Amino acid sequence: MAEVLVFVDHVDGAVRKPTLELLTLARRLGDPVAVAVGAGAAGTAGVLAEHGAVRVLTAQGPEFGDYLVVPQVDALVAAFGAVSPVAVLLPSSAEAKEIAARFAVRTGSGVITDAVDVEAGEAGPVAVQSAFAASFTTRSRVVRGVPVITVKPNSAPVGAAPAAGTVEELAVEFSDLSTAARVLSRTPRESTGRPELTEAAIVVSGGRGVNGAENFPLIEALADSLGAAVGASRAAVDAGWYPHSSQVGQTGKSVSPQLYIASGISGAIQHRAGMQTSKTIVAINKDAEAPIFDLVDYGIVGDLFDVVPQLTEEINTRKA
Ligand code: FAD
Repeated sequence: MAEVLVFVDHVDGAVRKPTLELLTLARRLGDPVAVAVGAGAAGTAGVLAEHGAVRVLTAQGPEFGDYLVVPQVDALVAAFGAVSPVAVLLPSSAEAKEIAARFAVRTGSGVITDAVDVEAGEAGPVAVQSAFAASFTTRSRVVRGVPVITVKPNSAPVGAAPAAGTVEELAVEFSDLSTAARVLSRTPRESTGRPELTEAAIVVSGGRGVNGAENFPLIEALADSLGAAVGASRAAVDAGWYPHSSQVGQTGKSVSPQLYIASGISGAIQHRAGMQTSKTIVAINKDAEAPIFDLVDYGIVGDLFDVVPQLTEEINTRKA
């Protein structure tokens, strides 16, 4: 059967959920062959095998930690040489998209980024993208080289599909380019204990209607009741009420969770661009004419200072 390379996103051997989603999509196209590099790579094999990886190609070495991106491209190129896959799938993180682009250039291949689905087409894999603030859905196929496709988090379910997961050491030749940009230091971000915004299954966002940093704990409490990440509109982050890293939208982060709850957000096109592919959208807004209500599945017309605490309390009661 045809093989499909899946580039593994992991932290010291802990595989991140978007990679498991990629394995679900890869199984539609052929036998998934995972490529895991860097510290802890060998430790990824168990979970990758449980989710369908027939082979796990690993490479470790100081280059992966000491230099930016290019050593990982070298490893993916080596895996490509060892496997001759019908497609290469990567997560849609900023780093993996750079790896995808560099890999595509090196192998003379076409690249499609930010897919929300991948289908096995008759003439090769078809990537589904959501374009122009989700006003259009496009279906595209790479016509040169091997299709290189990055897929947004939450685009596919995670499913158990036990496979051999045979671990093989990958021989990687590092190019001169690999050592062009050295990492000088790393500072871990302070953890909120909440899921990563771009990967979260549920996102609760606050906008200008939250009316001050001192009120954002209301949004956080609702998020915590649901195990959600917290997002914010640009109006809220520009006002200094919440960190810029939490901005959702055209000039912020793109999210595509199962559930997106917008509180006190009007629904400007630039905000919609970052959240419109969410599976279920709920808005709380006191203005019944707010544009956000044009795209919601459920709309609550009301004051968020009344609605959000009641919603949080009800969810916590039902969970108890
Ligand atoms: P507003 O538009 O002011 O809406 C606030 C809403 O809160 C209103 O609908 C109001 O009815 C409601 N409200 C007020 N009080 C309450 C209450 N007590 N209870 C319930 N509802 C209440 N924006 C982004 O979000 N992300 C981006 O990435 C982004 N990129 C941009 C890029 C460019 C180039 C430009 C020009 C703009 C960008 N913007 C972006 C800004 C965007 O155009 C809007 O200005 C912004 O999204 C508005 O944020 P908001 O909805 O929080 O505020």
